[in-house]
Amino acid sequence: MHGGTTLVTGGAGFIGSHLVDALLARGESVIVLDDLSTGRLSNLDNAAANPRLRFVRGSVLDESLVDRVVRDSDTVVHLAAAVGVKLVVEQPLKSLQTNIRGAENIIEAAHRHGSKILVTSTSEIYGKNASGPLREDADRILGSPGVMRWAYSTAKVVDEILANAYHREQGLRSIVVRLFNTVGPRQSPSYGMVIPRLVHQALAGEPLTVYGDGQQTRCFAHVADVVSALVALLDEPAAIGETFNIGNSGEISILELAKRVLELAGSDSGIALMPFEEVYGTGFEDMNRRVPDTGKLRALTGWEPRRGLDETLRDIIAEVRGASGGASNGTKAQAHS
Ligand code: UDP
Repeated sequence: MHGGTTLVTGGAGFIGSHLVDALLARGESVIVLDDLSTGRLSNLDNAAANPRLRFVRGSVLDESLVDRVVRDSDTVVHLAAAVGVKLVVEQPLKSLQTNIRGAENIIEAAHRHGSKILVTSTSEIYGKNASGPLREDADRILGSPGVMRWAYSTAKVVDEILANAYHREQGLRSIVVRLFNTVGPRQSPSYGMVIPRLVHQALAGEPLTVYGDGQQTRCFAHVADVVSALVALLDEPAAIGETFNIGNSGEISILELAKRVLELAGSDSGIALMPFEEVYGTGFEDMNRRVPDTGKLRALTGWEPRRGLDETLRDIIAEVRGASGGASNGTKAQAHS
């Protein structure tokens, strides 16, 4: 039983809402701060009836609101951010403001009130470094800041640097995590992420959109595994002042992934290769490969991912099928949006 209060910014989002469920389940009180821009109240359906949950609708850009909710908590998990390559490319200014100023507001408030804070960063900070499993001290390899993807990468690294500077110079109890591709139930297909998109397409009988030649690889972790890593780090005093990768190191090409989705969904939708320029405009850059090294996290907490890709895909397929009226034949089902 844990008696404290944790503030989860972005707690109505995909990862945030799963974390909220986990924290409530172990007896904590939780405050969610979410502006519902990409988060959804329905993500908190399981949590809503719990008297230990307080939901506050608002933005991390609202300094006085941030001050109040941080004051009421012992621990802060900062997940509120502009997410997904698509959103960041389509709304650059808003994304940068949320990711830089929002994080600064939260970190400063945590410092003022003596709260512990876990700041979530991203594997995007490694940029184009495709050299194999990436350790936390791996080089960042970025293209021009004129390419929005690298501007986003830079914004997130500013959050990390700020948290670390407050830790070193002001004694802030901060932890930084870099999330690699995280997937699972509740992830919306609206922000460009490949797995929710492919699953919705497979179940709607539409061709699966594979960008480029589909030979680029990614590693996908189930959100439940990611949440257990976050909780393990929050429980570990030696995590303070450190940075950790969180991800699953099972690697798959996007073309193979699309085939797997078709097979597990029992769909005959087929695959449509699409050039990147058609999707994201000219000047877009993708990375060929991105694999986490999670040895540091394992050494400290014993954490290892427990769910493989097939189990993860089955979970997502079952959820999307449920939302489309429980249709048993995926190839004919129309997914509701
Ligand atoms: N992707 C794809 N089809 C889609 C959406 C994404 O082929 O409908 C590709 C995307 O270009 C990238 C990979 O899948 O190579 C993972 O994309 P996602 O946006 O999920 O994550 P990230 O690029 O941030 O790793």
